[in-house]
Amino acid sequence: MSAIIYWFRNDLRLDDQPALTELSSANGELLPGELLPVYCHVDPNEQTRWGFPRVGVHRRRLLRSALDGLDAELQLRGSRLLEVEAPTVAGLIELCQRIGAERIVCEDIAAPEEQAEVDALRAAGLEVHSHWQSTLFAESQLPFAVDKLPDQYTRFRVALERTDVLPTDPLPPVEHLPPLPTSGEVNTGQVQPSEAADGDERSAFPYFRAEFAGSTQAGMAHMRRYFDSSLLAPTYKSTRNGLIGTDYSTKLSPWLASGALSARRVYAALVEHERAHGRSDGSYWIWFELLWREHFRWLHRKHGPTLYRARGLRRQAATPEHDPQAFQRWCEGRTGHAFVDAGMRELAATGYLSNRMRQVVASYLVHELKCDYRAGAAWFESQLIDYDVYSNQGNWLYIAGRGTDPRGGRRFNPDNQADHYDADGRYRELWSR
Ligand SMILES: Cc1cc2nc3c(=O)[nH]c(=O)nc-3n(C[C@H](O)[C@H](O)[C@H](O)COP(=O)(O)OP(=O)(O)OC[C@H]3O[C@@H](n4cnc5c(N)ncnc54)[C@H](O)[C@@H]3O)c2cc1C
Repeated sequence: MSAIIYWFRNDLRLDDQPALTELSSANGELLPGELLPVYCHVDPNEQTRWGFPRVGVHRRRLLRSALDGLDAELQLRGSRLLEVEAPTVAGLIELCQRIGAERIVCEDIAAPEEQAEVDALRAAGLEVHSHWQSTLFAESQLPFAVDKLPDQYTRFRVALERTDVLPTDPLPPVEHLPPLPTSGEVNTGQVQPSEAADGDERSAFPYFRAEFAGSTQAGMAHMRRYFDSSLLAPTYKSTRNGLIGTDYSTKLSPWLASGALSARRVYAALVEHERAHGRSDGSYWIWFELLWREHFRWLHRKHGPTLYRARGLRRQAATPEHDPQAFQRWCEGRTGHAFVDAGMRELAATGYLSNRMRQVVASYLVHELKCDYRAGAAWFESQLIDYDVYSNQGNWLYIAGRGTDPRGGRRFNPDNQADHYDADGRYRELWSR
């Protein structure tokens, strides 16, 4: 019997999973053949070129619970997740040989390293089908060709909102899965053990508590709690610049980033909320922010590796400067600026940071400390529990003035930001150690 590998990437769910749905059944009938669900870990010892591990402890822990949740869902359908720790490409090639699979199906990710993995698998003679499935809209729904995508967010949003096009409904969870391969001694289950999370009670995303864990189930429960409330979404626009507590913003990003929740599922919940509680400035603004996420994804489809050059999209920009000692102090929350240091301590202690503080600390690194934005982006990649290749790169480029900001970069005056957003000093006090 022919076997197919479904390679989970940033789509760790069975709900609203077009590629896996297509692979599992047609017209309600289970497709013949065997299917091996696989996840490939980043090598835990992999270092960035800036000298720290690529995946930090918080992201590893949250990912662990997302994978455990996925495996539990697969087991309910008679399948299991195989976790691979070898380098991704070599690991997948070896696995294909072992079980006699010639085909890999996976999410299409429009970022250079992720594309290079797919290219290498194809070069090794494997058939790889990659599906674009992390956006709200399908390419065919966009009112412009991808190569004509507006680079500026506002133009993108306005062009979309002028059409009547809306995200299509999310698909129901995959119900049945083909059996696991019988040949090749496949050992499914965890390869990276669970680490106990000694959580920080100050966290705005306390992932060590069950309701904030990384699985689809936890994400759905959190999303329902948020949108069932008649208070949270309607006040989002006025609370979203908050710095303390779990409710000032939706906190949906960790699940969206791992793919435990799909953007269409979140959008459907938002629409349901508006039906029940009415539309509000807040509910519109959540849509507005989801469109930022959307824009950075399509920008990657348009510009691809260009977004990863030192000068980004700005042909005339100089190579970024860098000061390794200043960068080190920034990472450790020892710059001497109390507001910035509070943000960097929160990030290191919890793996989460509000959007406001991300802007403040990123701007400080690039514009005050004159460091390379790519080092900052790499630190965020290592630390953030909601690390998302598209949103991270897009936002860093934007602040550094090497992306799509029409004003050529954002410098946030850290003193003014502290006065405005932390007038009583509570945030600085909370993260003073
Ligand atoms: C330098 C920098 C780096 C960032 N890196 C990431 C990252 O790696 N992963 C990530 O998900 N977000 C990133 N963001 C965007 C934003 O800070 C987070 O999405 C947001 O803080 C997550 O919290 P939330 O889910 O409560 O967001 P909410 O405010 O509730 O927003 C709802 C959703 O909209 C999306 N969203 C909101 N703001 C943005 C934005 N500026 N750009 C893109 N999408 C947005 C997210 O999916 C978010 O979950 C970054 C921002 C900056 C300034």
